[in-house]
Amino acid sequence: MNGWKLIPYFHNKIQKHMLNIEANNPNLKSWVEVTSNSDFPIQNLPFGVFSINEEYPRVGVAIGDKILDLKAIFELGYLSGLPFTAADFDSEYLNSMMMQGKEGTRALRDRVSELLNAQNTELQGDAEKVLFNQSDAQMHLPVMVGDYTDFYSSEQHAYNVGCMFRDPDNALLPNWKHIPVGYHGRASSIIPSGQPIHRPKGQQKPSETEPPVFGPCKLLDFELEMAFITYEGKELGDSIYTTEADDYIFGMTLFNDWSARDIQKWEYVPLGPFLAKNFASSTSCWVVTLDALEPFRVPGPVQDPKVLPYLEYSGDKHIAIDLEVLIQPENGEENSVCHSNYKHMYWNMNQQLAHHTSNGCDIHAGDMLASGTISGGEEGQYGSMLEISWKGTKPYKMNDGTERKFIQDSDTVIMRGYAQKDDLRIGFGEVSSKVLPTK
Ligand code: MN
Repeated sequence: MNGWKLIPYFHNKIQKHMLNIEANNPNLKSWVEVTSNSDFPIQNLPFGVFSINEEYPRVGVAIGDKILDLKAIFELGYLSGLPFTAADFDSEYLNSMMMQGKEGTRALRDRVSELLNAQNTELQGDAEKVLFNQSDAQMHLPVMVGDYTDFYSSEQHAYNVGCMFRDPDNALLPNWKHIPVGYHGRASSIIPSGQPIHRPKGQQKPSETEPPVFGPCKLLDFELEMAFITYEGKELGDSIYTTEADDYIFGMTLFNDWSARDIQKWEYVPLGPFLAKNFASSTSCWVVTLDALEPFRVPGPVQDPKVLPYLEYSGDKHIAIDLEVLIQPENGEENSVCHSNYKHMYWNMNQQLAHHTSNGCDIHAGDMLASGTISGGEEGQYGSMLEISWKGTKPYKMNDGTERKFIQDSDTVIMRGYAQKDDLRIGFGEVSSKVLPTK
């Protein structure tokens, strides 16, 4: 440790219930250069899977505009004493590393924080062997997703959709404030940021009086969401309670739940979304740990009517994360179409996970559970084109003079997000995907 000592940081600015996570000390500085608007200061240290020059993918941690190669630092002996093996980092997914649970990955993040600390010189001599430019790297899907669930937990989004398809007086269905409503999605079509999608084809019913047709989706939409990635859960038959849910959540990503509205409208009765959703969902590639997000906890909304006991929770379990959606036409400028915030959720992750396992359903390392579209209470904060264009009745005016009701071929949809408090910014990077014509 070269005499480097941890600086005590439990001063009165930190809320009492906040976990004592060494790596979150806002005073820490890294010897790796980090600009003030970087998403990846030393207090973040998100995990991902990267490759350089199409070589083997391996596990890394983002710091500033660099990537720290965990496979390399393991081989050089810097992670001795931790419960990991070489195979955990010489891997195309984070799942193996995540099998060490919260205790293991927290110790790992603490150790990486020590190694990157400006006051610690032990790794600096090997910097050239272990640090790579993010601009030279290809990022991969961070986890092998075993199961994917999508919730529907933003009240404003559920209300907006209810207003459009039913009426404002009955916008929320009777179960909505009692159950974190969700559906089982499809893991096979979750893709990393940067991978384009093809406009899906499917069955639609554009006319009330004519039979259905099959063809390219005409109402292609994004959904601004965040996903959380779980550790290995309990045995089948056991439940995870709201009080322990944090221990089963590894981290979060930005998530674009692509949606084909015309296909959805015709197919969703009575069993819910199917082919309108499972053609692709895009995720950002850096997994920001729940630990790194602890300083940004905020209270959630008052839940009225009172929820059933298994959904009650204590403490601040929501998280304030600024979110933005941009549409970039081919060779054009980015158009910012939505500013929202993850704090707008009605149901938090603890409640979602408790509900998901309340019947004994098991979860595994690498499962992804997405929030549902995150819409705020005002125009400009809506997290889908369905809401932004109000079902196509209010086209969005782009910088280049064109209009968007939904997403067109060659548009790139970009989502960015970060949490900020004083000078500390913990970001996610982005999830960006271009829409190609139907195959
Ligand atoms: Mn969704």
